[in-house]
Amino acid sequence: MFDQDEVTGTLVNYYTTCKREAWLYAHHIYPDQEDENMALGRTIAEIKEQNLQDFAFANLKFDKLSKERGHYLVTEYKKSLKNPEAGKMQLLFYLYLLKIGLRLKEVKGRLISGKSAFLVDASEENLNMIKEILIDIEKLVNMPTAPKFEYKKICDNCAYRNYCM
Ligand code: SF4
Repeated sequence: MFDQDEVTGTLVNYYTTCKREAWLYAHHIYPDQEDENMALGRTIAEIKEQNLQDFAFANLKFDKLSKERGHYLVTEYKKSLKNPEAGKMQLLFYLYLLKIGLRLKEVKGRLISGKSAFLVDASEENLNMIKEILIDIEKLVNMPTAPKFEYKKICDNCAYRNYCM
């Protein structure tokens, strides 16, 4: 039985992108490691290691935590912003854990990809949204089988496409 404590930022990102992808990932069915998107993601992860802070708490695995004037700032780097909503939800998940788990008062998130960046606020509305998403993820992952494959444009570049197409 899967429960919310097992949710990770990657799972929230996948859930926002594709429910079938999230189910496969949560069931330890991992994508093709030779896929070029996966390889690019790994390369970015290695570069950003230099800035990574050793911050062990629950399922928090974000790229960087810094202290700005009056608030903490969580930074997440992405190879592309093709799906900004997924990046936003992943960040919100981190902000939610920091606020609820560590009781930090003021926390913001920043998503960076190349020259683009945007901020995510831990507003009450956003935190309620992520709370609902965590409930939905738990229900989804506890389904006995993955949601059926339905083709969408993102499938063409998805590392899981061999499981679906
Ligand atoms: S190929 Fe499409 S349906 Fe399958 S996991 Fe990827 S995005 Fe989801």
